[in-house]
Amino acid sequence: MRILLHRADGKTEPWIKDFGKFLPEAEIEIWHAGEKCQTCDYAVVWSPPEAMLEELAQVKAIFVTGAGVDALLKFSGALPPHIPIIRLGDAGMATQMAEYVTHSVLRYFRRFDEYDTQARAGQWAPLPQYRKEDFAVGVLGTGVLGTAVLEALAPFGFPLRGWSRSEKSIPGVQCFHGEQGLDTFLRGTRVLVCMLPLTPETGNLINRTNMCKLPQGSFLINVARGAHLAEPELVALIKSGHIAAATLDVFRNEPLPAQHPFWQEPRISITPHISALTLRRESVQQIAEKIRKVEQGQPVADVVDRNRGY
Ligand code: NDP
Repeated sequence: MRILLHRADGKTEPWIKDFGKFLPEAEIEIWHAGEKCQTCDYAVVWSPPEAMLEELAQVKAIFVTGAGVDALLKFSGALPPHIPIIRLGDAGMATQMAEYVTHSVLRYFRRFDEYDTQARAGQWAPLPQYRKEDFAVGVLGTGVLGTAVLEALAPFGFPLRGWSRSEKSIPGVQCFHGEQGLDTFLRGTRVLVCMLPLTPETGNLINRTNMCKLPQGSFLINVARGAHLAEPELVALIKSGHIAAATLDVFRNEPLPAQHPFWQEPRISITPHISALTLRRESVQQIAEKIRKVEQGQPVADVVDRNRGY
């Protein structure tokens, strides 16, 4: 069995080592621009270059080393529809997301961000405490990661809300779905967490119109994709105070350009796309298990529905 591997960072050795551990029967072929490679059975990629499409179109299945597949699906038209695209399901990302979002929600609820600012200015000034019933957390996208985030938040007692495409029932969570459910979901959400895949339907969803439906003084946490957010519209709403603060892990252009207005906005917290990193060992182990299933003709989880875009 031969696996075609592409890593944009060029750090392929540790991946080869882990494949040696979890799928010793596989030979790993590294993709290099301009070099002819042998025909492979499977491909393992994240955001492959366009020049790789010819090879990708020949494999039995393409494994994506992430939960989101937007970077590959932009080439979907060039990939024969019979080739399954298989993403990671959790693989250690759910815990990381739960940590990141829980931290951010508690930081705003307990006003630690404001106390940090006060401390730098040498101010000792207790602020009024928010009430949990006024601090509903609403998660856009209640899939693998969104559900893990909601479960992690449950013990703290915030009212929890979720929004998905299809109708869902999650214990302890008020669930909304579809376009018709979005308006009510937003109007009752104080902390909006974006955990959606990026698709033609979800791009730009966090725009001025939708952010204005959140109550005055709401908070935004975007850990999905930069293109979900209308960035200049957030800056305007932060300046007006309608959005009290935002924590952003993802951006339309990454790394975030030095002149981007977000850097100048103290009420916007920035992290460099680290909310849930791909854990190599967990990912290779999961991919190896899935390859074994494909080889045995068994059904495999996390196959992307190309029509839905996730
Ligand atoms: P899932 O596919 O498990 O869940 C996606 C959720 O989004 C589902 O609940 C789905 O609804 C919902 N959804 C999709 N389209 C719509 C729509 N048009 N309207 C309403 N709801 C919709 O994905 P994961 O939870 O595994 O991952 C989510 C995203 O998180 C990834 O696609 C990726 O973009 C992002 N991510 C970001 C990382 C980072 O480091 N910043 C790391 C990992 C992931 P339904 O349940 O009805 O299908």
